[in-house]
Amino acid sequence: MKIILVGPPASGKGTLAKFLSQDFKLPHISTGEIFRENIKNNTELGKKVKSYLDSAVLVPDEITMEVVKKRIAEKDCVNGYILDGFPRNTQQAKLFDKIVKADVAVHLDVGLKEIEDRILGRKNCSVCGRIYNTRFYKSDTCECGGKLFVRNDDNIDTIRKRYYAYEKETVPIISHYKSILKSFSGKDSPETTYQPIKEFLLKEAKKFDSKN
Ligand code: ADP
Ligand code: ZN
Repeated sequence: MKIILVGPPASGKGTLAKFLSQDFKLPHISTGEIFRENIKNNTELGKKVKSYLDSAVLVPDEITMEVVKKRIAEKDCVNGYILDGFPRNTQQAKLFDKIVKADVAVHLDVGLKEIEDRILGRKNCSVCGRIYNTRFYKSDTCECGGKLFVRNDDNIDTIRKRYYAYEKETVPIISHYKSILKSFSGKDSPETTYQPIKEFLLKEAKKFDSKN
């Protein structure tokens, strides 16, 4: 099953994708994470995309499409995957439709105020990728032992910019995918948010299995 997650920055897509990846045994593909990994390792791709991520503007579609095509061609993607952060605009959605038919899209609905509170307290584990909020978690070390870090682009200057870019560029894909999309409130804790989504996707997975 190929699942697309749509939602504003820090709406909980990454955390949700991690839950889904475990329960549905599907790889979690985050274009943002792929870009950040490449920047960290100073690869050719990393050098090309660094300035876009630092200034919180979208990486050009050609680069993003190449990255996604390559990733979904890998062996672990044969039974499907969870896309987090892609497609990010209607152009990407249209290009993606040409190569793949997504099965289901989940939209996480969270407002700007909540997003600001979350991003300003967000910390990521450098080892397992788990995301914490300093409102609820005070330590600098992940439960796995990894060191927590704050993303370069998680600051008050970029958050509004990223949110408005989401409204302008990404919100239109909600109607693009309306035949396969369902919206959920993302304002509660990750566990509370996840339950109805899991139920919905379990039902979708049954339909999917009976078709395939
Ligand atoms: P968030 O959703 O919190 O903004 P992401 O990790 O999804 O974080 O994205 C971080 C940055 O990576 C974006 O600001 C953008 O520069 C780049 N990026 C990620 N996914 C895409 C995409 N599908 N198309 C273009 N740029 C992307
Ligand atoms: Zn960890």
